[in-house]
Amino acid sequence: MSYFHTGGCKDSCCLKVQNVSVKIGEDNVLQDINLHVHCGQMVALIGPNGAGKSTLLKALLGQRDYDGVIIFSVPGQRRVKARIGYVPQSPAFDPGDPLSVADLFACCLSKRPAFLGLTKSLRTQVLECLERVHGVDLIDKRVGTLSGGELQRVLLALALEPIPNILILDEPLSGVDIEGMTNLMDMLDEIRKKFDLSILMTTHDFSMLPKYADTVVLMDHRVLIQGDPQEVLDSEEFRRAFHMKEDC
Ligand code: ADP
Ligand code: MG
Repeated sequence: MSYFHTGGCKDSCCLKVQNVSVKIGEDNVLQDINLHVHCGQMVALIGPNGAGKSTLLKALLGQRDYDGVIIFSVPGQRRVKARIGYVPQSPAFDPGDPLSVADLFACCLSKRPAFLGLTKSLRTQVLECLERVHGVDLIDKRVGTLSGGELQRVLLALALEPIPNILILDEPLSGVDIEGMTNLMDMLDEIRKKFDLSILMTTHDFSMLPKYADTVVLMDHRVLIQGDPQEVLDSEEFRRAFHMKEDC
């Protein structure tokens, strides 16, 4: 097993996954996964429930042991550790929880106890972070009362501080209404272009893929097909993976 960061962006790749396998107990959850995320591209990882999508993301984050090779590159820089931003699958917050968005940022960005409140400079930093997701107005809202789309924007703002080289999101569109989905995808697209960010995300919302993704990877424990979004969505592999009939 190896997990290392290397300089240069050979073949314009920001992330290379080579023959990655994960076994949990007796189950081969991932088998010989190969994929590349090119610099500045958005790659969508799709597959049925239990296909191993989240497991692959955990392997990338170093939270799961694996066999194979994972290489992160930072364009134009040698031996620089790639920064990874991660938006987890929507955590549930209690609507009665008094934690505000400002408190959440204070916990993540500062060692100062959140109950002491934000210093002026930290509040300015939080507002700058929220500005990136057009969410300045959310700063004093309680996290438990945010809509699905608002919570995703707050989690995204946290993952973007500091700006990473690659952004990994696990089902950011689940629990978000259709308008919120479009807003979130537009925002990811804007951020990707602005910061030349590579994005790898899992999703079940295939309608968004042709417009926003550069590449779609369909997996079910192993990669079934990857490439142009429309080609993957029209493929026999896609129909079989989701048990769809020929005329669907
Ligand atoms: P997906 O995200 O595609 O729905 P997951 O990566 O969450 O799939 O899970 C893939 C398989 O691995 C599932 O069968 C799941 O039950 C199993 N799995 C994932 N994490 C664990 C774990 N911590 N312990 C046991 N089995 C797990
Ligand atoms: Mg998952």
